[in-house]
Amino acid sequence: MELIDCKSLTLEELGSHLAEMEVPAYRAAQIRSWLDRGVTNFDDMGNLPLKLRGELNKRFHIPSIRIKKKLVSERDYTVKYLYTLDDGENVESVLMKYHHGWSQCLSTQVGCKMGCTFCATGMDGCVRNLLASEMMAQIETAQSDHGVRVSSIVLMGMGEPLDNFDNLLRFLYMLGQPGGVQIGMRHVSLSTCGLVDKIYKLMEHKFQLTLSVSLHALNDNIRSQMMPINKRWPVSELLKACSIYAKTTGRRISFEYAMVDGVNDSDECARELAARLKGILCHVNLIPLNTVPEKQLRRSSDKRLGSFKAVLEKLGINVTVRRTLGSDINASCGQLRRMKEKE
Ligand code: SAH
Ligand code: SF4
Repeated sequence: MELIDCKSLTLEELGSHLAEMEVPAYRAAQIRSWLDRGVTNFDDMGNLPLKLRGELNKRFHIPSIRIKKKLVSERDYTVKYLYTLDDGENVESVLMKYHHGWSQCLSTQVGCKMGCTFCATGMDGCVRNLLASEMMAQIETAQSDHGVRVSSIVLMGMGEPLDNFDNLLRFLYMLGQPGGVQIGMRHVSLSTCGLVDKIYKLMEHKFQLTLSVSLHALNDNIRSQMMPINKRWPVSELLKACSIYAKTTGRRISFEYAMVDGVNDSDECARELAARLKGILCHVNLIPLNTVPEKQLRRSSDKRLGSFKAVLEKLGINVTVRRTLGSDINASCGQLRRMKEKE
């Protein structure tokens, strides 16, 4: 029998498993409390009878992660972790310090199958989805290792969160559980390359999170060239979904736009962007491209970025330029894992 991931279960689900095992319901809360404290072995759960610990070991497992590498930026307080999962796979996560507290960028998959041309994560495809418990463990491990409390998270690490929908949903519901990390939805940003069907599915849950949509181009030819997903869900369908999502949830969409020299950074592109975003409750975040050694793409010049931003502002678009934290430690995701795999 395949072991069940105990940590990804809700208290109610755990309770029903225990009921099947004829174990009293109050044990579920005891077990949950150990899990929330980061215990990864039933044998360490001191208030459970020995016999029960044995039975739990036969039915469940508790996924854990270990820190394989930790890099601390000398320029800012950014910390980058390379974590190893139980099956030996590696994922990255980055802790960032802002004036309002610590924010953590989490991975949702080992690799990614979306194959965007500018991204290091997608270069070797997707190895597997992360479990909800493995997303949670990234936060718990960073908090206890670095001695900080994470108050907001961004799902912008390795992987496409909406391509791992069921585990993602489970994780989002776990975030607010009593006794857990207690991160409210308003402190969650979820970044997607634009899986339109899943955007509609997510909308049904009416989460108060921030949806970040990696747009990067408004012209279908340019976007399809950068992001293969655009062939499945072209810009018009994506923007329609975003507009409905913003209206339904009342939450402003954040459009991510990585500036690639000579590809998507002309003033013409900025004008097209502004025209197509008119009327959508949104914000545009310009990102200086992080150059990936294996890729030929270059970052747009500061001058080009400034001009692009000015065009958008003039046309009434709300726009910011993303701060690049931890640039001395390759803090953009996907790069550290690749370096390790090569070693
Ligand atoms: N798969 C999701 C989330 C992970 S990628 C998505 O694509 O949105 C997180 C963000 O990093 C996305 O906006 C992605 O477009 C961006 N990104 C990927 N590679 C990058 C690079 N080399 N430079 C700048 N941004 C990059
Ligand atoms: Fe996947 Fe996002 Fe990278 Fe595209 S940018 S390959 S969707 S992780």
